[in-house]
Amino acid sequence: MDSGKFVTAGLVLRQTATKESDYILTVLTADGILSVIAKGARSRRSRYSAACQFLAYSELTVTKKGDWVYLNEASTIELFDGVRFDFEKLALASFFAELTETVCREQWEASEMLSLLLNALYALSALQKPPRLVKTAFTWRFLSAAGFAPLIDGCAICGCESPQQPLLDVHEGVLRCGTCPATAGLSVPLSESGLAALRHILYCPPKRLYSFTIPDQALRLLDSAGETFCTVQLERTFRTLDYYKDILPPEEITL
Ligand SMILES: [Zn+2]
Repeated sequence: MDSGKFVTAGLVLRQTATKESDYILTVLTADGILSVIAKGARSRRSRYSAACQFLAYSELTVTKKGDWVYLNEASTIELFDGVRFDFEKLALASFFAELTETVCREQWEASEMLSLLLNALYALSALQKPPRLVKTAFTWRFLSAAGFAPLIDGCAICGCESPQQPLLDVHEGVLRCGTCPATAGLSVPLSESGLAALRHILYCPPKRLYSFTIPDQALRLLDSAGETFCTVQLERTFRTLDYYKDILPPEEITL
């Protein structure tokens, strides 16, 4: 009986080696996070070792038996070699994967999150977009899609749509002018061009996500604000983000 058998496309966020020659794969699919046992995947003779690698995107044929899902067959769609063989990009993708695992759940509509993650990896791998630009746009858009969108249409205090020296309250998720009275939470600086870029990132069609230009200093501010917003809203730090920042050359480190 193959009643528990189904086919799904998924991206490997994590591979955990077991005592046997197996892997337990943490996979993002359009229907949320799936834990898949890949029997014998660490053996050299395994026919699906490529699909079990970190960041491999494959069509997976699996069987659900009781509480467990087992891998039967895998057909690799994309391996993102341009990321996996680049030390810095691989570290950044590890942060994207940890962020994804933090936000997404099992049996949870995740088609938008999967699409955002695949496009981010493609932007790094094939399009050679600057890592800081991809990191900034992905983090903001991904958090927004996950329900953590900040309100950035205008100043929360005076309503002005074009705040001077704009600040973002990372606890309340609201915008205000630098000259307006403080809101309750911690505020971090954006810049006028950073705010324009953030509006593009949050509201543009997904295909246009990495198609914007911004002065380097404004991008650094927006990147730093995104990290702080992420840490505050999700109430945690990210080991992979700390590692990524550790390996960057000094001039590339966020403010
Ligand atoms: Zn104001």
